[in-house]
Amino acid sequence: WMVRAIALKDDNGHIIKWYGSNIDITDQKELEKQKDNFLGVASHELKTPVTSIKAYVQVMEMMFRRAGDTKNAELLAKMDHQINRLSNLIADLLEVTKISTGRLQVASSVFSFNQMVEEVIEEVQRTSVNHEIQRNLHFDKEITGDKERICQVIINLLTNAIKYSPDASRIIISTEGNDSEVKICVQDFGIGIRKDQQERIFEQFYRVNGNREYTFPGLGLGLYISSEIVKHLNGRIWVDSVEGKGSTFCFSLPLN
Ligand code: ADP
Repeated sequence: WMVRAIALKDDNGHIIKWYGSNIDITDQKELEKQKDNFLGVASHELKTPVTSIKAYVQVMEMMFRRAGDTKNAELLAKMDHQINRLSNLIADLLEVTKISTGRLQVASSVFSFNQMVEEVIEEVQRTSVNHEIQRNLHFDKEITGDKERICQVIINLLTNAIKYSPDASRIIISTEGNDSEVKICVQDFGIGIRKDQQERIFEQFYRVNGNREYTFPGLGLGLYISSEIVKHLNGRIWVDSVEGKGSTFCFSLPLN
């Protein structure tokens, strides 16, 4: 059962009376469970063939290269790139299933924070020729935490910053911290996000649509997954954005 209540207020905004009702949400919960099940099974089944197609494509590309057939090799490289996009989408769907079934695991190791950030920048920069990721890094300590998951969030924010700033080339990543906390921010000078949508973008499958000059591909899962990861790591994630000017996404993590 869920209680839905509406407050009746006077002219000064004080609550005079509550109206409430109990709603049976058994059906809703059941539907949600079925949706999660479907997502889990579908994304799992999609993953296997995509992985094997990728392997075949890579072998074929190598064969064409060896034979000196650059034209066909390039075609296959493009195909490989699209397969990567597909498998990233499938990976996101699998993550959502993990989150909704409480199976998102957190690992722990000791690593150099700065080195991890540098690795991520290098990886993202490699596939992005039109943007330059500038560094403003002021946290150089060893930390204990889930390196993979933290990388995942930073990659997400960086790829979004690139994707949603088609007319700007500058991205700035900054880090700062002390003994108890580290904060990472990714700033872009792109399309920005309207105030009333800034809370909603962290919701599952939520995407901003509007009369925009560009269309951006995506499922609306990256920020949801990122915020769930940050939550699991006991941190916070937020955005500061002005429509038409750009956005700064930040997250902070406690250190102990
Ligand atoms: P996706 O990019 O697949 O839509 P996300 O969860 O990463 O999914 O983002 C949700 C929405 O938030 C996007 O559809 C976009 O409208 C908005 N958004 C995310 N990052 C940015 C950004 N850096 N600049 C402007 N809008 C953004």
